[in-house]
Amino acid sequence: MANSVIILSDEKLTALKAYYASDVVKRDAPGVVFAAKTANASITAYRSGKVLFQGGGAELEAAKWESGMDAVSSASSKKPLTKGTVLPDRLATLSVIGSDETGTGDFFGPVTVCACYVRADQIPLVAELGVKDSKLLTDPYMRSIAPDLKSVLTYSVLTLQNEKYNTVQAKGWSQGKIKALLHNQAIRHVLRKLEEERPDYILIDQFAERGVYYNHLKNEREIVRENVVFSTKAEGLHVAVAAASIIARVAFLDEMDRLSELAGRTLPKGASKKVDETAAAILLAKGEPFLRSMTKWHFANAKKAAVIAAKKRG
Ligand code: MG
Repeated sequence: MANSVIILSDEKLTALKAYYASDVVKRDAPGVVFAAKTANASITAYRSGKVLFQGGGAELEAAKWESGMDAVSSASSKKPLTKGTVLPDRLATLSVIGSDETGTGDFFGPVTVCACYVRADQIPLVAELGVKDSKLLTDPYMRSIAPDLKSVLTYSVLTLQNEKYNTVQAKGWSQGKIKALLHNQAIRHVLRKLEEERPDYILIDQFAERGVYYNHLKNEREIVRENVVFSTKAEGLHVAVAAASIIARVAFLDEMDRLSELAGRTLPKGASKKVDETAAAILLAKGEPFLRSMTKWHFANAKKAAVIAAKKRG
């Protein structure tokens, strides 16, 4: 196990505590003022200013702090390190990759995730194109503005189709893990497309605590960590998240259209009684494997549909 020890000033120690705020662990040992555990390293700070990094990612993690906050910058990007879960000032005016998902509560249809970059100077344009909090937007309106957004912004949208969803779900993956992997992948795609350009921040519409999110990613080869901040209701904090939310939603709607076509009827959204009834009708008409192929099979709706179908069969 690799160990790295560095000595930090009070100021840097404060920054380090903020950075690992959501990874904090309790460690009752003499002189310990702070301890945290990430997927890659354990971090222990002592009253003396010494900080011990242990584990596979120890050296990498220590390198972030060794020569100050700019150490990471020169290593992999030109921007300063994120300060943990504290949102930066004037976030709404900065260049940001926003990331959001949809479809997680719908029995029918995929989970879709979009990461979308809005450069500071594009913010007025994106607002001009009609981006508002997606919760205020109707599906037809989102469909009407998504093509413009896609044509001016750098984005990546991923559609996890139901067959794949059901396969990984059956392996024991939680929705949280599925979402974390998709967000990380979509963000990586956008960063790759941006080449040299780097966002000031990456803002993920929060569905899990930072520590939980990174724990889901622990086996990934490339994990985006730098300048990543999380917030709930993030679509209200930066238009990049609102744009991502719209593009993800439209991808979901497109896939729902395709599946509705296959099923020969309009698939309802959500997980309501109407969903049970539609699912029962499909079950009767096309059989279980067909129904499974367009649903999130572990939802309670599957069993309810089977009960309804059994009654109808008499
Ligand atoms: Mg969201």
